[in-house]
Amino acid sequence: MSISLNNVNTLVVKVGTTLLSGPNGFDGRIVEELVKEIVSLKRERGMRILIVSSGALGCGMAALQMKKRPKVLPLKQAVAAVGQSRLMHFYEVLFETHGDGLKAAQILLSGADLDNRASYLNIRNTLQTLFDLKNVIPIVNENDPVATDELKFGDNDTLAAKLAGKIDADLVILLSDIDGLYTKNPSLHPDATLVKRVDLVTPEIEALAGDSVATTSTGGMRTKLTAAKIANSMGVPMVIANGGHSNILHAILNGKAECTIFGAANIGMSHRKRWIAYGRAARGEICVDDGACNAILRQGKSLLPAGITSVTGEFEMGAAVRIVDAHGAAIAAGLTNYSSEDIARIKGLKTAAIQATLGHKDFDEVIHRDNLVILENGRE
Ligand code: ADP
Repeated sequence: MSISLNNVNTLVVKVGTTLLSGPNGFDGRIVEELVKEIVSLKRERGMRILIVSSGALGCGMAALQMKKRPKVLPLKQAVAAVGQSRLMHFYEVLFETHGDGLKAAQILLSGADLDNRASYLNIRNTLQTLFDLKNVIPIVNENDPVATDELKFGDNDTLAAKLAGKIDADLVILLSDIDGLYTKNPSLHPDATLVKRVDLVTPEIEALAGDSVATTSTGGMRTKLTAAKIANSMGVPMVIANGGHSNILHAILNGKAECTIFGAANIGMSHRKRWIAYGRAARGEICVDDGACNAILRQGKSLLPAGITSVTGEFEMGAAVRIVDAHGAAIAAGLTNYSSEDIARIKGLKTAAIQATLGHKDFDEVIHRDNLVILENGRE
């Protein structure tokens, strides 16, 4: 991967079950190395880092000397409850030993907590305050006894992605026992090759993903692709990489890792542009002709009335809208200077005709370049 992620400031790192399991059950050696790296990233670069960690079930199995992963859900939840405090203790000891004064903070939540506005705002405020404390690393896990997604589907992948979007993270990294997405499940097909870059998770990409072969894991590649879709849809790039490689986080950030990167086009997008593109539901669509499409996508121009062919939806000045091409593909998102009603009247006209048609002209552009973001469909 030759894409540098050196500007990442807020990072979500998800530690998969496979990284916390050895042949004889729970094994923390790999994560010990990761914690050392996280400490150095925090100290060297002042990054805001949040860990999403699986592994409560494995810890619980070890504590209860269970050899086989429980099959029924209530027992899984009970065993995870035994394991969660042990998992946190494990992280606390690691930070105590290698943390240079850093402390771990436990946050247990479910995907639904992020969908509910009141609880989401509480989570966001708490995380913000934890980041402001400077010497704390929040460690998030699904609240297994009340939520069943992680235990059933390995949904810490999607939880990490959702969280990354909600806290405006610059990157989410899913660390597993594998370098990334392969053309087939490499555990079963030795001829599989690594897919290094995925700009859009299409059905063809989804067809590459199989289940996990690990007995302690549930997600496999499928939930990781769902996570990529969620993260990318909120403008956050995502990486899948092998947490077992030493210095993997530095390698990823320096563009030197063997890994898969999803949605690389959004790397370095400012928070404001990300908010324009993904933070607000579009209130309508402005359809443009090929000339305007070209001006926006290839010449870095603003959207003028002359290139507009039609407008749908009802919206006021300042609303978030999508710009669609003649085939209906959304190529860009932006904040409009004119209402849908005004646009319907000035579409196709020269800028000089705006004043005469509307009786006022506050702007030459319908969407100024500064308020416009190119979307995936518009990128070559
Ligand atoms: P974790 O517990 O670390 O989140 P999982 O075990 O759930 O990870 O998922 C990773 C596993 O997904 C890999 O070890 C591999 O067995 C499986 N897998 C299935 N299809 C693919 C694929 N196309 N590319 C890579 N891994 C795949």
